Amino acid sequence: MSSFSVPPMRSASEDLPGPLMREGAEGDIQGALERALREGKRYTKTGKVATYIPELSKANPEHIGACIKTLTGETYHCGDWQEPFTIQSISKTISLTLALQTAGYDMLFSKVGLEPTGDSFNSIVKLETKTPHPLNPMINAGAIATASCIPGDDPFELYMELAKRVCLNDDLSLNHDVYLSEKLAGMRNRSMAYWMKSENIIEGDPEEALDLYFRMCSVNVTAEDLANWGMVLANDGVDPTSGTRLVESWIVRIVKTFMVTCGMYDGSGEFAVKVGIPSKSGVGGGILSAVEGRMGIGVFNPSLDRKGNSIGGMRLLEDLSKSLRLHYFAGKQQ
Ligand code: GLN
Repeated sequence: MSSFSVPPMRSASEDLPGPLMREGAEGDIQGALERALREGKRYTKTGKVATYIPELSKANPEHIGACIKTLTGETYHCGDWQEPFTIQSISKTISLTLALQTAGYDMLFSKVGLEPTGDSFNSIVKLETKTPHPLNPMINAGAIATASCIPGDDPFELYMELAKRVCLNDDLSLNHDVYLSEKLAGMRNRSMAYWMKSENIIEGDPEEALDLYFRMCSVNVTAEDLANWGMVLANDGVDPTSGTRLVESWIVRIVKTFMVTCGMYDGSGEFAVKVGIPSKSGVGGGILSAVEGRMGIGVFNPSLDRKGNSIGGMRLLEDLSKSLRLHYFAGKQQ
């Protein structure tokens, strides 16, 4: 049994937020977004696209865009907001949700921990030196172990159903080229999976867990899809437009907490100080952000820093957080 209780369902109207920002005018959000885009653009040349998955090296590092979906029904966007890219590690928010829904809290967290690592997302070292349990579900080892916990004949089908539901997009689909590229190149992930198998963290076939993980990472999304998922998270799991609950409240709480503590890998601390929005990044260049009770934000820029986070995306979010006062501890005055 979970140690969290599931609260009663709420209607969307009960979840409506207060004023979106100090000035309250819609134009301010669009203006702030465009300013933030210009700020992000200044940094896109300072990073590099991911190359360890060969297919990702084809991305254009200068693509940058963002989309905002507010809980009151407005959409704002800028730049390359409609450009598709693979979800990569942002899939970890959805696979965690699915594992909690299907395997449950106790089962999942008997395999995977709840602590930040301070190591890179694909680090293997602590599996031997600290504990065979991967430290959290937002690093690769933790997500592969999480994938191994999802029951059923076709867990990828379950994942796609959930991804389409929470991104409010029935057209999401697998990018086959990226999937095959990652499957071929994923030796480091393979090492971790076999190590975890040897330690009985993975109970089934490690190749099956890996294949599911590679597929989950290889689904194409846009900044708008991520903004929708962020909006649902920001609204406690309820689609604010229809009032339909899409994810259980206790699961939303866990996912957002991991986004705060581990969502930007070993850059999570600095990001928390500078941006202060629960977020999850992926090496495809996406960032998913959920501003509690206010809005979801999806950002895209495939130029990455050394930790694998989108450089332009983080700068864009930092600027936006300042101008719209989105930091979770923004306080009452500048
Ligand atoms: N699929 C990627 C990998 O396993 C995901 C990593 C990421 O986005 N940080 O390396």
